[in-house]
Parts: sequence; structure tokens; C-alpha cells
Amino acid sequence: MSDCLFCRIVERQIPAAIVAEDQELVAFHDINPQAPTHVLIVPKTHIAKTSELTETSAPVVAHAVLMANRLAQQCGVADTGYRLVLNCGPQAGQSVAHLHLHLLGGRSMRWPPG
Ligand code: AMP
Ligand code: ZN
Repeated sequence: MSDCLFCRIVERQIPAAIVAEDQELVAFHDINPQAPTHVLIVPKTHIAKTSELTETSAPVVAHAVLMANRLAQQCGVADTGYRLVLNCGPQAGQSVAHLHLHLLGGRSMRWPPG
């Protein structure tokens, strides 16, 4: 989708600090980090949000979690702990309509979030 920011990052039409890639996913640093480690993991296929996942497409989320676990190791936050977040829709604060898994770590985080 040419009008989708994260599709354009996947297609290298917009620059991003890409840290990992495989057949299904691209991971890059969040431009406005909320923690010392803040990486976004996005499917290469355009899926707007988690509520649009299907039985066929849903395994991409498990795949993204496994990539997040590896990146958490690489970033040195695996042992201290990290948070994985999927925002879905406006009240959850989703601002980019392309499914993305946030990997946040490197500082203490409260629960529940604001
Ligand atoms: P969400 O609020 O869950 O939709 O998260 C969207 C995230 O994308 C926010 O944390 C933004 O800081 C991040 N973001 C927006 N534009 C870019 C960009 N060009 N490169 C990297 N991250 C971005
Ligand atoms: Zn997209």
C-alpha cells in the first residue's frame, strides 16, 4: 500500500533504522522511543490491525514475538525484562494503521499503562 507509512518502510521508500529482517517481517527502531530499547516489528504484508487477523494470517504474530525475543537478547534486555505491545484501534492509541509489535525495554515500566 503506497499510502501506508510502514509499507513504505518495508519497501525502503522511506528510511528507517532497520535492525532485523526475514521473509515475513521487518524490525526497526521507533522514531520516538519510549524506552532505551524501542523496536517495532512489522509484517511485510499490509495488515491494518490485530482485529483484521485471520486464521491464515495470525501466525505472523507468533513469528513476530519470536523475533522480539531474539532482539531482546541482542539489545541486552532479555534478562531484565521487556514489554511487547500491540495497540489496536484509536482508544488503544494506535496511530499507524499497519500492524506492529512494540518491543520496549531498558527501564522499569508500570502496569496498567495510562
Ligand atoms: P502506535 O501508536 O501503536 O500506532 O505506534 C506507532 C509507532 O510508530 C509510534 O511509537 C511512533 O513513534 C512510531 N513511528 C511513527 N513514524 C515512524 C517512522 N517513520 N519510523 C519509525 N517509527 C515511527
Ligand atoms: Zn501497510
